[in-house]
Amino acid sequence: MKTMRIAITGGKGGTGKSVISTSLAGYLSKKNSVLLVDADVDCPNDHLILSIERKKLKEVKQMIPKWNFDRCIKCGKCSEACKANAILQVKNKYPIFFREQCNGCGACLLVCPENAITKSSKTVGNIFVGKNQNLSFLSGELMPGELISELIVDSLKKEIKGNYDFILIDTAAGTHCDVIAALDGCNLALAVTEPTPLGEHDLDLILQLTKKLDIPTKIILNRSDIAKKSKIKQMAKNYGVEMISEIPYSKKIQQQYSKGELIKDKNIEKLAEKIEKMNKQ
Ligand code: SF4
Ligand code: SF4
Repeated sequence: MKTMRIAITGGKGGTGKSVISTSLAGYLSKKNSVLLVDADVDCPNDHLILSIERKKLKEVKQMIPKWNFDRCIKCGKCSEACKANAILQVKNKYPIFFREQCNGCGACLLVCPENAITKSSKTVGNIFVGKNQNLSFLSGELMPGELISELIVDSLKKEIKGNYDFILIDTAAGTHCDVIAALDGCNLALAVTEPTPLGEHDLDLILQLTKKLDIPTKIILNRSDIAKKSKIKQMAKNYGVEMISEIPYSKKIQQQYSKGELIKDKNIEKLAEKIEKMNKQ
């Protein structure tokens, strides 16, 4: 059996990605070695659903430039080079730095002719590990007030080590840089959606993205019976994407979720069996 790296993703938040990721990880880990990676770093919650006590593995640091105004000749080159608009320079004045805008790219250091900028760093997030029987767990968490989610996701992915039958990556919602970073390198994406206008709209965005990234994608239609699903089916047909699972609304799932229990559901169990089969082909 080869390692299958699967992203559980979806353009829209609140479609049940975390519930499906954790439940799927639970079923797959009964017979396989599984690593679940919670890459929803703004709001990681898979450990809560799985009742895993996380241990801090490492801090994620971002490079922050530091100015030495004794050397600065006020040339403005650092401000010109900063594409993140983190440096403002008024003519004949020293540069003003907006730390929250800075992404740590280092361009300002490279262009400064006087070596007036040096490196410092700040902690922007943490990486955690955990274990639950056959299920290994990794989770990244952005610190409050920080914006650079993709740096945490990149750092999280560097900690994916070892041999597993399945690596499941629970991405954030949306199609931003942190989601792209999480999808990169996956050999299957499961796009979780629901039959609502927002679900349809955001599914379209995520299918466009996975098509661009050339990642084979399948749709999971959660709460499949809350409205007509004809538009989602049409979209699946237009993109040539299979609807691999339909999970009707279930009070039992909601009750398990509200108690913080791992979801047991026959549709997700069937989905796990299908994925196991795909891996054996
Ligand atoms: S490190 Fe990059 S983003 Fe930060 S201030 Fe310098 S040029 Fe701008
Ligand atoms: S590039 Fe260097 S010398 Fe020029 S304004 Fe920026 S810090 Fe000062």
